[in-house]
Amino acid sequence: MPLDPKRTTAELKELRALTGDANGAQRVAWTDTWLKAREWFAGKLAGLPVEHHYDAAGNNWATLPGASEKALLIGGHLDSVPNGGWLDGALNVLAALEIIRRINEEFHGRPPVTIRLVDWADEEGARFGRSLLGSSAFAGTATVAADRLRTDRDGVRMDEALRRCGVEMDRFPEATREQKNAAAYIELHIEQGPVLERMNVPLAVVLGTKGVERHAITFHGQEAHSGSTPMNARRDSLAACAKLALEIRAIAGKHPDAVCTMGSVKTFPGIVTAVVGRCEATLDQRDLDAQVLATMFREAREASERFAREERCTVEWSRIWQIEPIAFDAKMLDLCDEAIREVTGAAKAHRMPSGPLHDAAEVSRAGIPTVMMFVQSLGGISHNKIEDTREEHLELAVRAFDRLASKAIAHLT
Ligand SMILES: [Zn+2]
Repeated sequence: MPLDPKRTTAELKELRALTGDANGAQRVAWTDTWLKAREWFAGKLAGLPVEHHYDAAGNNWATLPGASEKALLIGGHLDSVPNGGWLDGALNVLAALEIIRRINEEFHGRPPVTIRLVDWADEEGARFGRSLLGSSAFAGTATVAADRLRTDRDGVRMDEALRRCGVEMDRFPEATREQKNAAAYIELHIEQGPVLERMNVPLAVVLGTKGVERHAITFHGQEAHSGSTPMNARRDSLAACAKLALEIRAIAGKHPDAVCTMGSVKTFPGIVTAVVGRCEATLDQRDLDAQVLATMFREAREASERFAREERCTVEWSRIWQIEPIAFDAKMLDLCDEAIREVTGAAKAHRMPSGPLHDAAEVSRAGIPTVMMFVQSLGGISHNKIEDTREEHLELAVRAFDRLASKAIAHLT
């Protein structure tokens, strides 16, 4: 049978029934439900002439050897967040499976280049707070010493949970061996945002993943009695922080794809009868352009100092985390663009950056030419049981992604 996108949606539903409940998908990495999903998937590979193994970081590889050892990698992740959606990560893996079936049949088991499907271990970081775990081990950017002592909310240590699944964190560096002969990487993913639905566009070329600047910001003022302190005698740290929370919208608004979020604000002493003496907030800033990101960071910092002065407070910043923007490969972007145009008949394919991080960012950091394709999400909702995409769009995505695989094979041959 040639490519059958309906089989992909049927298999996604099968997986949902097997590993989900009334609250959504429950395939959290390093749990029994996740292992069950992987076992189910191994069963799906049974009829194919693929070599199947788990690498030193628990990434799941199925390899269809080709005439050339040069390999096209097609990736996704079967793990989900708790109460997650049915498509995030799983669509990628099952679309890749359907493409391997098609390629195997078309080339009678021997395609021109080697095709490797990878189901990355623990993309979500849902249990231990460490995202992109398996793909970072593959890329050689894992942070084992810092991660091994992480605990889940029941106090179980990360290295112990992984050992239960047959993975020794000390051996993570061996996962970089899987890079051998990797010549290109492609990944299909749901958009997880509202942009494509608003534009009424089913598919998009992903330009890369945005860089992130994440900071803790603390404003210091003076705690004071809410009844006895005149308005003009206050040093209200919440007032300074509140001005910044509004200002970051203008800072982001100067750039078309930039986003800035103050996701958390805590006030101390945090009681109804006191002026806020200390206010702790977090800021998350993202853009695909490193220059834009640096400018937004500088502007937010300057604004915070200005607002602190206005309110007779002080402010301090400390970096929580950062990652540089990852731009995908120009040639692979063009192939993805062509594939989308050919399948949708549109004159132009939409191109957009990804706000969320994906395993593709780690693969790209390893120097492997990479591109991702997005398919529209309904209502822009993800990491939730109501996450959804129209079935006709899922099928279109499988067809376009298959077209991209063919173009990548031709490019590598
Ligand atoms: Zn995902």
